Amino acid sequence: MNPELAELLKRQGPLPLARVMALAADQYYATKEPFGTAGDFVTAPEISQMFGELIGLWLADIWQRAGAPKRVLLAELGPGRGTLMVDALRAIQRAAPALAQAAELHLVERSPRLRAIQAKVLPGATWHDDLGTLPEDAPLLLVANEFLDALPIAQFEKLEDGWVLRRVEVAGSSGPRWDRSVGANLAFIPASLRDAPRGSIHERSFAAEQVGAAVAKRVAAQGGAALFIDYGYAGPALGDTLQALKGGQYADALETLGEADISAHVDFGAIARAADPHARVQGPQPQGMFLDSLGLPERAERLKAMASNARRAEIEAARVRLSSIGAMGRLFQAMAISASDWPAPAGFPTLPA
Ligand code: SAH
Repeated sequence: MNPELAELLKRQGPLPLARVMALAADQYYATKEPFGTAGDFVTAPEISQMFGELIGLWLADIWQRAGAPKRVLLAELGPGRGTLMVDALRAIQRAAPALAQAAELHLVERSPRLRAIQAKVLPGATWHDDLGTLPEDAPLLLVANEFLDALPIAQFEKLEDGWVLRRVEVAGSSGPRWDRSVGANLAFIPASLRDAPRGSIHERSFAAEQVGAAVAKRVAAQGGAALFIDYGYAGPALGDTLQALKGGQYADALETLGEADISAHVDFGAIARAADPHARVQGPQPQGMFLDSLGLPERAERLKAMASNARRAEIEAARVRLSSIGAMGRLFQAMAISASDWPAPAGFPTLPA
């Protein structure tokens, strides 16, 4: 566990998990290199250029069908190393050069270290600490891959005599442990889950719901479309999904606070319910179906046709990893939130047009 965080918890006494996660995430992203083969986890844009390219085409397509607005904000939440946006912009430049010209690039990133890395590959962008400072006077095209999962969650646990809020405690010389001494506000537990058996856990990310609500409100008012991709489910549901990854291996979330990537599965059901009724919500739908319907197999074939033998095998492996059910294809889900007076974004074939 990060020593500063341990000291703080010792001084302050037990703090709610969401608060501890926020502190841990800031320390982690400020100091560690999480991405790539040497890092703690590998994200879809780092697996293959095809991921960002297909998202670029998704953006170009909706922009064109919405009448190719002259001014448009192109925004990303939590861009990491900037790989997704670089690949997306390259595809946009080819498919819709006028969008590449018109787009004003806005990146929401809190880590100064990652901002510096992003600035090298995305010069000319404007950075924001959160969504609040994005301009409001133009349509918004927004993407966020593995952003919502990094946001803090609250965990509620059902004990013999009712629901409690899980807090993290560091006392004396012992390591961090759960404190279960504070009752939960029952308004936060969906009625359908209140009678769950003892030991059940219900998670809720107020931060993720706020992001969903804010984005939906903006696209409804400004025009535009947003794409969220993350591992998750359509709740409300029970289950403990808090996880820590260190060097590609699962680790104990409490023991490694601030030193490992800590995340939780995203409840897309809660995001959809938080969205403005004037916004259109599509999905969640499995990433594999989403990418396949945008043309992942065709893109892979085209890249393979130009590649060496060794490179061909890599492209095929990346395609399988991104889309197959056994890999990221089903665990990861895509959700689009768009202005209801815009055409429906592509990639959600199960929904009527
Ligand atoms: N989208 C990238 C990186 C995902 S990691 C990819 O797919 O590779 C999560 C990213 O979100 C990091 O850039 C991290 O610094 C950023 N982040 C996490 N919590 C944040 C917060 N509360 N506000 C802004 N950015 C945050």
